[in-house]
Amino acid sequence: MSPRRARRLGPYERPDGRGAVRPVDSVPGVDQVESAADGDWVVRKVSGAALAKTYRCPGCEQEIRPGVPHIVSWPAWQGGEEERRHWHTACWKNRANRGPGRNRY
Ligand SMILES: [Zn+2]
Repeated sequence: MSPRRARRLGPYERPDGRGAVRPVDSVPGVDQVESAADGDWVVRKVSGAALAKTYRCPGCEQEIRPGVPHIVSWPAWQGGEEERRHWHTACWKNRANRGPGRNRY
């Protein structure tokens, strides 16, 4: 068994697979927890090289194309993994400057 960070099997995983989220481990990268004004966030830097999918950045609402290094973040509380979002690295850093009234994701 690898001692590497076991994936939590929590109440948020549904045995029937309906509504299941992809395991976080499917995105290779390094996790960090950042404390911000809007709470604690787990931030994972990803190279993008392993991803075949285009994501939409909630910061600028532009696409993040495969192969573009970016970050994935989600709230650092239980169940927060279901709120994972892919962000351009710069957009994530700038999110606090987006002003009130915007969805924090
Ligand atoms: Zn962006």
